[in-house]
Amino acid sequence: MTYVRKGFGLKAEVQDTLAADYTGQLVDMLRARDYTLHAGQTTVRLAKEFGFCYGVERAVDYAYQTRLKFPDKRIFLAGEIIHNPHVNAKLREMGVVFLAASGKGFDYAPVAPSDVVILPAFGVTIQDFQTLRELGCVVVDTTCGSVLNVWKRVEVYARDGFTSLIHGKFYHEETRATASQVEKYPGGQYIVVRDMAEADLVMDYIEAKAGKPTPRPPLSRTEFLEKFAKAASDHFDPDLHLDRIGVANQTTMLARESLAIGVAVGDAMARAYGDTHRSEHFRTFDTICSATQDRQDAVVELLAEPLDLMVVVGGYNSSNTISLAALCAEQVPTFHIADPDEIDVDGNAVRVRRVGPHHHEDDIANWLPTAGALRVGITAGASTPNNKIGQAVACIFAIRGERVDTSL
Ligand code: SF4
Repeated sequence: MTYVRKGFGLKAEVQDTLAADYTGQLVDMLRARDYTLHAGQTTVRLAKEFGFCYGVERAVDYAYQTRLKFPDKRIFLAGEIIHNPHVNAKLREMGVVFLAASGKGFDYAPVAPSDVVILPAFGVTIQDFQTLRELGCVVVDTTCGSVLNVWKRVEVYARDGFTSLIHGKFYHEETRATASQVEKYPGGQYIVVRDMAEADLVMDYIEAKAGKPTPRPPLSRTEFLEKFAKAASDHFDPDLHLDRIGVANQTTMLARESLAIGVAVGDAMARAYGDTHRSEHFRTFDTICSATQDRQDAVVELLAEPLDLMVVVGGYNSSNTISLAALCAEQVPTFHIADPDEIDVDGNAVRVRRVGPHHHEDDIANWLPTAGALRVGITAGASTPNNKIGQAVACIFAIRGERVDTSL
């Protein structure tokens, strides 16, 4: 396997194409005008941190460099490079073929040793790496450094005999890759909890096993195994593997909830077996990445202002976009839009992902009031390019029938 992790030194050569595909004039204008655009009775306020993060910029840059470096080779991508429909469509236009998920990894059946495989910013599982090594193709690894930090943490937990309790989504590529790291050590175990409600089930089990009262009736062993069947390692046994726990998190979760889960699990272990047990059998490490944290902090700052509604732009499967939308929906009506192409300007309608655990896509008519003063906040997930944010802003002003003065 030829393994490339630092690009091909072609950054300058792909820069203009990247700018043409992803930069946005309106967003530059918003930044220059203190993140604010006014026209008539409409004000749009942009969060101060938004859109492409360092990991996404690097992954997309390397994908473009790979295409330039190997114009005649077949290029495959393990899943999506990032979770943004526009970016993925651009890569498809460039002839990059997306491999489908299969079992614990991706289906590499179409790949030949002479081909190139790009690994996404989320990384891939250790089984994927093994398959790629056996194939002997060229591998361009764009795994984000912040994801590698989580892997190291989980690996150390497994080495030291701790089960990794990961706050994340068990089906998300990043969490699947992270969880697989425990397999580097025989007997390594993991369990993934999506939110505090699932963490509560784990904590109840620990406390009940220690003979302590629990706030809810605890799950039986069978119920526990059923509940976490897809979210735990193959031989996970709650009676054996909740004795030593190390907490980590998918980098893009709601930071506030990740921190709370870390504290709560430690407290539950202390209630079950005492403080000494906690200090020896429990570890926690905040592995939310700084880009996720910055975007969440910026949206909280923006939400402190009076706003009539929030628009959050980003893929429906983009975890950090979903976290931003959840934060916004706590305070104002929130519209999570995958792509501004989903906005019907003439009909004042929009397709959104409804926020919440039972999410679904929905078409909403008359989503913007067309008369009266309106203050709209906008932000975007770490995989959303600036031109898509700018397009959403342009749609808002167009629906309102206002024209932004670009000459100021
Ligand atoms: S969201 Fe964080 S972990 Fe994911 S690519 Fe961006 S910087 Fe890296």
